Amino acid sequence: MAEKISIKNGKLVVPDEPIITYIEGDGTGPDIWLATKQVVEAAVEKAYAGKRKIEWLEVLAGEKAYQAVGEWLPQETIDKIREHVVAIKGPLTTPIGGGFRSLNVTLRQVLSLYACIRPVKWLQGTPSPVVHPEWVDIVIFRENTEDIYAGLEWECDDEAARQVRSFLNEKMSCDIPADAGIGIKYISRTATERIMRKALNYALDNKRKTVTIVHKGNIMKYTEGSFKNWCYELALREFREYVITEEELQVEGEKAREGKILVNDRITDNMLQQLLLRSREYDVLVAPNLNGDYLSDAAAAQVGGLGMAPGGNIGDYTAVFEATHGTAPKYAGQDKVNPGSLIMSAGMMLDYLGWHEAVWIMESAVEKTIIQKKVTYDLARQMRGAIKQKTSEFAEAVVNNM
Ligand code: NAP
Repeated sequence: MAEKISIKNGKLVVPDEPIITYIEGDGTGPDIWLATKQVVEAAVEKAYAGKRKIEWLEVLAGEKAYQAVGEWLPQETIDKIREHVVAIKGPLTTPIGGGFRSLNVTLRQVLSLYACIRPVKWLQGTPSPVVHPEWVDIVIFRENTEDIYAGLEWECDDEAARQVRSFLNEKMSCDIPADAGIGIKYISRTATERIMRKALNYALDNKRKTVTIVHKGNIMKYTEGSFKNWCYELALREFREYVITEEELQVEGEKAREGKILVNDRITDNMLQQLLLRSREYDVLVAPNLNGDYLSDAAAAQVGGLGMAPGGNIGDYTAVFEATHGTAPKYAGQDKVNPGSLIMSAGMMLDYLGWHEAVWIMESAVEKTIIQKKVTYDLARQMRGAIKQKTSEFAEAVVNNM
C-alpha cells in the first residue's frame, strides 16, 4: 500500500511504496516527464521485482496550474510537496508579470531548499568539447537562498534606488552615480555553514577526497571572502578529525592527507580554468549562489551539455529534483528534446531514497544507449554516425538496455 515518506530520528523513512509528488513542467516538460517516468518505473521494477514501487502524485505549477486554478504556484502544491518530502519537477516557464521572479527560485525559498546539488559526470560515448571528459566527476553544492539571487534590486529611476544611493553617498561616503541601478548582495554565516556542512557530510558519506570552496573573496571580501573563512572554520570546528586543509598539508606533507578529506579553496575565475585543464583534481565544490550557477553550466558543457545535467534542491529533508534546463518552448510537444537531465535527476532522487540498485540499472542503461549512438538531436548533432532518436524512442531504448 502506498505510504508517505516520513522523518524519524533525523533520518528519512522510505516505505516500499512511497508517494512521490511530481510537477510535469511547461513547454517540453510533458515530453521529458513521460520518458522519465517510463525509465524510472522500469528500473525500479527490474531492481526490486515488484517489492518496491513508486506511487506518483501530481501537483500543479506553472501554466498547467494557471489554467486550472488561476495561480502559477498554488499553496496546495507547496503544502503537498512539504507533506510528502520528496518531489521531482520538469522545467517551468517564468511568468511575465505574475508577481514572481521565478517559480523555481520561489519554490526553493518557500521550502527552504538551501542546497542546489549538481553532480557532473561523463557517461561513456557522450560527445564532449574537451580532450579528457572522463576526468570530470564532480558534485557542485551551490548555496540556493542568498547572494545576488535574494531579489534585492532596484531600477535606477526607482525611488528605492534613489534612497539607497543617497544613504550610501551621504552617510557612508560612497560615490555612486545618480543614474546607477542598485542590487544588494548578502551572504550570511548561517547559510554558509549549512551548505558547507552538507557538502562535507556528502564527501564523507560518498568517500570523496576533496572539498573545494569556490569564491571571489579577493574582491568581495565581506561576502565571498567571509564565505571562504566561515567554510574553513566550520570544517575545522565540526569535522576536525576528518579533514586537512591545504595549508596544513604544506606543513605536514602529503602523507598527512591519508584517510582525510582535503579542504582547499580556489578563486572563481581560476576555478573555471581549472575545471577545463585539471578537472581530475576536483571532487566536491561548494560555492555561493552565483558562482555555483556559472560553475554548473560550465561543467555541464564538458559532459554533454544541459540536456544531460541533473540537479536537486535539498533542504534539511525536503528535496525537489529537477531538470536543470528550461522549458525549451520552441520544441514543445515535438517529442524531440533530450530527457537525459530529468532521467539523471530521477537517478539522484532514487539515490536519496536509498534505492541504489535501481540507480545503477538506470545509469548503466543510459550509458549503454549513448554508446550505441542512440541519442536525441542535441547529442546527435555533435556525434558522427548517430542514430537520432525522439524523446520517447530514447526512453524505449534505455528501457530495452536495462
Ligand atoms: P532553455 O529552455 O533551457 O533552452 C535553451 C536551449 O537549450 C534550447 O533552445 C536548446 O538548445 C537547449 N535545451 C534545453 N533543454 C534541452 C533538452 N532537454 N534537450 C536538448 N536541448 C535542450 O532556456 P531558455 O530558452 O532561456 O528558457 C525558456 C524558459 O524556461 C523561460 O521561461 C525560463 O525562465 C525557463 N527556465 C526554467 C528553468 C527551470 O525550470 N529550472 C531553468 C531555466 C529556464 P538548441 O536551441 O541549441 O537546440
